[in-house]
Amino acid sequence: MNAARQAQLRERLETLREELLAEGRMAIPPARSDAVSQPDEDEAPLTEMTQSIASNRNRERSERLEQIAEALALLAEDPEDFESCEGCGENIGRRRLELMPWVRLCVACQEKIERDGHVPGSRRNLTDYR
Ligand SMILES: [Zn+2]
Repeated sequence: MNAARQAQLRERLETLREELLAEGRMAIPPARSDAVSQPDEDEAPLTEMTQSIASNRNRERSERLEQIAEALALLAEDPEDFESCEGCGENIGRRRLELMPWVRLCVACQEKIERDGHVPGSRRNLTDYR
């Protein structure tokens, strides 16, 4: 990887991280504990749904931030390895890395994981990949 490409990917990762940080966590509405004084029963399921959406989004966001931090570390320490798939060692692909610079797997291995739940020879756990 040349220095320009490395700088470009780093910039992209940093921009994504800034966007996620600026976006902030979604507020999770408090659960209704005052069921007796709550006249509108229809509000309860809505609150639960909003809670679940918010916590899912917050979890995805913190996972993505972790992936971005790992990708930035790898990019700085081992830029040659950055473009290699962790499953098969092949090049992940320029376009794929531009779209999702945090991914550590090529399309083929990603599809294998989604189908089989694991990649042969993978050094890490399934939960590390999204
Ligand atoms: Zn692969």
